Amino acid sequence: MRGWWREITGLVLPVACGGCGRPRTELCEECGAQLHGGVPRRVRPVPEPDGLPVVHAAAGYENAVRAVLLAHKERGVLGLAGALGKALAGAVRAGAGPRSGPGPLLLVPVPSSRRIVAARGHDPTRRIALAAAAELRRAGTPARVASVLRQRRPVADQSGLGARERRANLMGALDVVAGGGRLLATGRVMLVDDLLTTGASLAEAARAIDGADGPDRPRPGARRAAVVAVSPSALEINRNCK
Ligand SMILES: [Zn+2]
Repeated sequence: MRGWWREITGLVLPVACGGCGRPRTELCEECGAQLHGGVPRRVRPVPEPDGLPVVHAAAGYENAVRAVLLAHKERGVLGLAGALGKALAGAVRAGAGPRSGPGPLLLVPVPSSRRIVAARGHDPTRRIALAAAAELRRAGTPARVASVLRQRRPVADQSGLGARERRANLMGALDVVAGGGRLLATGRVMLVDDLLTTGASLAEAARAIDGADGPDRPRPGARRAAVVAVSPSALEINRNCK
């Protein structure tokens, strides 16, 4: 209902840029450039949690990028999903490298917290992943979303928690739905999320995927992930690392 209402009101209420508030556009040129203008790069949090996949990010979590992600997630400005998905698609491409192996790219979203989904009426990460898969297909890369992860139990709000607390909060929090392992075996798995902060969520997602049934068993450390943005706070940006 909420999502439906938002879609309708979005058609009749005046729009403003999700990045800077400028009227009459959902995303202005300058803010779009912040989201799409950079070269996606390998990023790693410090400290790096055990089991963290190789992560590529499209942009830094600051200024317009931060504002656009929050507008989409917290205020439900669903029209921004396309722009965010385009940024995520860039990070996916950087992480996937040259095509190898059979099957499509399978974008596996880290489930948004139940609090967010219940309060906002949509799963923002899944929505961005769907837009990213569409963008990849438009550019000729077979890709689809495999929403196989789910939260097994409620987790505390991560904000305000340090790296170690986040890891403890999330350990065992995710698992793969029935039949998910078989689906994951049909392509190349790429975990996707909106934001990398400590890496705890992606490490937990990789752990859950590795525990799934099915023949998809890459060597340890071979998991790949892509995010729209990386928090500058806890990060060392490693430009040369492949
Ligand atoms: Zn703007």
